[in-house]
Amino acid sequence: MKRLLLIAAAALTALTVQAEPFPGTKPVTIVVPFAAGGPTDRVARDLAEAMRKSMGGAPVVVDNAAGAGGSIGANKVAKAAPDGHTLLLHHIGMATMPTLVRNLPFKVETDFEYLGMVNDVPMTLIGRPSLPANNFKELAAWIGQNKGRINLGNAGVGAASHLCGLLFQNAMHVDMTTVPYKGTAPAMTDLIGGQIDLMCDQTTNTTSQIEGKKVKAFAVTTAKRLTTPALKDLPTLQESGLKGFEVTIWHGLYAPKGTPADVVAKLNAALKAALKDPEFIKKQEGLGAVVVTDKRVEPAEHKKFVAAEIAKWSPIIKAAGVYAD
Ligand code: ASP
Repeated sequence: MKRLLLIAAAALTALTVQAEPFPGTKPVTIVVPFAAGGPTDRVARDLAEAMRKSMGGAPVVVDNAAGAGGSIGANKVAKAAPDGHTLLLHHIGMATMPTLVRNLPFKVETDFEYLGMVNDVPMTLIGRPSLPANNFKELAAWIGQNKGRINLGNAGVGAASHLCGLLFQNAMHVDMTTVPYKGTAPAMTDLIGGQIDLMCDQTTNTTSQIEGKKVKAFAVTTAKRLTTPALKDLPTLQESGLKGFEVTIWHGLYAPKGTPADVVAKLNAALKAALKDPEFIKKQEGLGAVVVTDKRVEPAEHKKFVAAEIAKWSPIIKAAGVYAD
């Protein structure tokens, strides 16, 4: 009898565990692999607010696990409990880190459940306000005159700013001293203060600084000029003479591998609803970002897209010889 009761109690416990609703009582945490106040953080905080609404008011918080070009935060989520309460918001680094960073402690293709893409974000080439150059032509001349003395800020090896900065140096045939930060928020502070000379960064961080004339803006990294009011007069790097130069950042949402399919489906539905939130769209558009409305909001398409981006960037990085230890 006692044995039967024990079996019944165990079965009840199992039932209770299975029936645990999602989201549960603990908050859903979106891990940002870069410093607070930067471009990835900006997207995550806007998304957290929109997902809070789309998940019926469930708490959604942001945790900045910055460092090592975005690999520390990604690794934290890869190793987290697969219960849907720990998510990762990451950018193009998910596609470039496998080539740019040797010995990554996780596998982009197999250690995550893909929840859907969030947005596409252009980058801008910006400089310290005291830089003597006022347009790209003058900047190119200044770079030529200051070879060996130029500091370029970035968010560490594997970050978008790292990739963009490396491609820029390669296209200009100039080596610069790269200064790594835990994100481009602290790098921006130093750029404004004149401690570093140049940086390539997402418009989600640079638009307001360009608008406020806190930094000098020289070009956008997209193939076409942008329409955002503060950025529409900036030339593209391609039209400035850097043939074929094009980098656009995208963000996607991930959960640890093994997160149950029904939880993945709920998170995907919450993400889709958040991407339709007019307030979220307005905020993102104001920062030059374009919210994803195509099939990449589907987990399978998100996964396919990242695999295609890995295949796209790997030969470019290798051919440019820009990968680093
Ligand atoms: N803009 C950074 C990068 O270079 C990331 C960040 O600080 O959000 O990837």
